[in-house]
Amino acid sequence: MMFLLFLLVVIAGAMALAMMRSPGWLWAAGAAVAAFVWQSGFFVTGSIGWPQPGWLGLLAWIPAIVLGLLSVPTLRRSFVTGPAYGLVKGILPKVSDTEQQALDAGTVGFDAELFSGTPDWTKLRALPGIVLTSEEQDFLDGPTEDLCRLIDEWQLRHTKREIPSEIWDFVKEHGFLGMLISKDHGGLGFSAQAQSLILGKIASRSPDAVTIVMVPNSLGPGELIEKYGTDSEKQYFLPRLAKGLEVPCFSLTGPTSGSDAATMRDIGTVTRGTHDGKETVGIRLSWDKRYITLGPEATLVGLAFRLFDPENILGKGEDVGITVALIPADHPGVNIGRRHLPAGAAFPNGPNWGEDVFIPIDFIIGGEAMAGQGWRMLMECLAAGRAISLPSSATAGAKAMLRATTAYGRIRKQFGLPVARMEGIEEPLARMIENAYVNEAGRSVTAAMVSRGEKPSVISALMKYQTTERLRRSINDAFDIHGGRAICDGPSNYLMSAYQMVPVGITVEGANILTRTLITFAQGALRSHPYLYDEIKALQDEDQDKGLTAFDEAFCGHVAFSVSNMAGAFFHNLTIGLFANAPSDAGDSRNAYRQLSRSSRNFALVADLTVALLGGGLKTKQKLTGRLADALSELYLLACVLKRFEDDGRPKSDRPIVAFAAANGLYRFEQALRGTIDNFPNPVAKGLMRVLVFPLGRHYFPARDRLGSQIVKLAIEPGEVRDRLTRDIFISKDPNEATGLLEVTLEKVIASEEAEKKLERAIRAGTVRRYHGLDWIGDAVSKGVLTEAEGKLLKEVEELVARVIAVDHFDKDELRPNYMKPGHNTKAAEAAPTV
Ligand SMILES: Cc1cc2nc3c(=O)[nH]c(=O)nc-3n(C[C@H](O)[C@H](O)[C@H](O)COP(=O)(O)OP(=O)(O)OC[C@H]3O[C@@H](n4cnc5c(N)ncnc54)[C@H](O)[C@@H]3O)c2cc1C
Repeated sequence: MMFLLFLLVVIAGAMALAMMRSPGWLWAAGAAVAAFVWQSGFFVTGSIGWPQPGWLGLLAWIPAIVLGLLSVPTLRRSFVTGPAYGLVKGILPKVSDTEQQALDAGTVGFDAELFSGTPDWTKLRALPGIVLTSEEQDFLDGPTEDLCRLIDEWQLRHTKREIPSEIWDFVKEHGFLGMLISKDHGGLGFSAQAQSLILGKIASRSPDAVTIVMVPNSLGPGELIEKYGTDSEKQYFLPRLAKGLEVPCFSLTGPTSGSDAATMRDIGTVTRGTHDGKETVGIRLSWDKRYITLGPEATLVGLAFRLFDPENILGKGEDVGITVALIPADHPGVNIGRRHLPAGAAFPNGPNWGEDVFIPIDFIIGGEAMAGQGWRMLMECLAAGRAISLPSSATAGAKAMLRATTAYGRIRKQFGLPVARMEGIEEPLARMIENAYVNEAGRSVTAAMVSRGEKPSVISALMKYQTTERLRRSINDAFDIHGGRAICDGPSNYLMSAYQMVPVGITVEGANILTRTLITFAQGALRSHPYLYDEIKALQDEDQDKGLTAFDEAFCGHVAFSVSNMAGAFFHNLTIGLFANAPSDAGDSRNAYRQLSRSSRNFALVADLTVALLGGGLKTKQKLTGRLADALSELYLLACVLKRFEDDGRPKSDRPIVAFAAANGLYRFEQALRGTIDNFPNPVAKGLMRVLVFPLGRHYFPARDRLGSQIVKLAIEPGEVRDRLTRDIFISKDPNEATGLLEVTLEKVIASEEAEKKLERAIRAGTVRRYHGLDWIGDAVSKGVLTEAEGKLLKEVEELVARVIAVDHFDKDELRPNYMKPGHNTKAAEAAPTV
């Protein structure tokens, strides 16, 4: 018994040392104490229940001696870390320049906390909530609302198939195109949070029209000049871009270089030539780009190309590297092609190309000094920009889908019931509520990070793919709930534009499959892991001694980290997270925080073993890295959900929504982690992870059906919960506009529910007959089933409902494409010429 107690104390002591990431000498001391107690215990207890140590007792000193020796840095470097350093250095694949620049771009933020296994919640909670200046708020409530009212979505995406000039004029006049350009240079200088909300509101009105505002305010000439331009570029171009005197586009993608943009074949050669009649150093360029948004309307073409300097005129060697230039669209030799027709949308998008076009060297953004720096510039801007543009429109889209669908589901009746009250419909509706809440939580917290100056590369990648995927799910759910009403297109269809545009968001700024399976985890593991990046940097150090010292330090930290994760994960899983870290003032969210801390430990353990055992194979094991990206995303988004709940003042009525999102988020997290472990290629590691992560089996289950019903009931009721779920989108109250009609009708439908019940009872009883050609409401009033006022209200509701459920129909000529109508150009499509 005593000996059993001793063994338990040894195990508990070892776990405590591991979880505290104790240094080697403390482990050595602990092992020595354990060996000593074992041997002396035999004599103290008089051998009763205490086995004689014998030669095993002597062996028990070995761990103490080995650990003690390894605590001496010179010995450790000679016998362990030194040989390991040499071995790994020899086999480490070389990180390419473009990979290195992508890794160096951006900042590490809360993602590192999740990778650490012990997230510090104060760091997340210290971020401000949604804070706008009064100028930003006025802009959101004023010009942004006005712009939304100006947009006629059907005219834009069907009748005209272009963004009408009045929309262009409006956005230019009010400075929408220069939101990220500083005030000093004539822009609005808005925070990332404000930009995100403004883009979101426009996107909720028209996912198509928002593109013309989004592109100049994300990765492109404006941002590149603001950050890397010369003073004269800033003075000249930024005020012109801010006022819309110039329309920019940014050309990176070509027919042969899509996701793998760095392998572009677009080439520039440094040479001498003539520009504006003067002999000058310049670049002779040939390029072929496609899919370029705003390209057909652009006056300034931002162009990425690979620069070579065979005569070393710039003094940077022959292969200068990827470079970004700004070329006027009317520069001799620049071909702005015709238009693509992306997803049937109206925003301008098309190819551009040129062959042997001479540009002066100062067309390079940032001038000669920035020649070869293009990839770094792009990666740095992408790290921040990707966190704003697509997450804001995907969030607004999810909210707009929810707003419309909750109204329609309450208005549309079948089998005598609003369809939203049927359990089958509740399921997708609950999912839409979760997506709207979670996307907004992630959007607002991430925008707050960017507003504070962070460029969160890993978080921006996961936000991009997660929010756009969730939007895709919400749109599909909205379609299913609307049935045929969603499928038939026309001016009264308020869903089709989002349905058409969703693949665009999925594909641009890093297509989702690539972003999920290659970027998020692989980059995250290297950047956000507490030791890995330091180890790799040390291994790449040219100076062997310096490299070995740095490697030794990082390696020891890494070992302590790995051991601590094993002990911490096992302990928290055995104790179902009861002792995991949660802020003391977390109130009702305490358990969710604890489960997040516990899950973060599990993630850290599995991620660490994956990186350690797969190493360079990570790039090809994309089914594993994709799952780990999902696991990381669920942790991040759930942390954002808890923060949003607190920032909103912990409204009691939002608690079930948070509980629903937390249960599902943890469940999906566990599935992703379980999938990684079950498919892990190394059987020993697989077994170890199973024991440590799932000692008691599965931990989490999807949210209960009852909770789903509860949140749907809250969301289909006009009021604070529905308004909070769909905040900051464009909401029309105009019954002559498709979504405005929904809002007006919803209120009336609810006001008439009692009268409607009376009428239904009379119809079921056969007192009143409801068939085309009969006046059943008048009949019900004359028979005393309804009062005059009730009859009047029901008549009004019937008319409104008839308009809500109506679908558009057209003469066949109206549906004929514009180019087939008399007087239009009927030229057949041609492939863009290639160079
Ligand atoms: C409407 C629209 C607007 C655009 N606007 C612009 C613009 O303004 N400027 C600009 O420069 N570009 C623009 N693009 C281009 C866009 O960025 C590319 O389409 C995108 O990078 C993907 O390239 P791709 O279409 O050639 O797909 P591909 O690269 O051919 O990819 C096909 C599929 O393979 C996956 N994949 C590729 N490599 C990997 C990998 N290593 N691991 C896992 N999966 C992988 C991708 O995720 C994708 O699902 C636009 C595209 C569209 C459709």
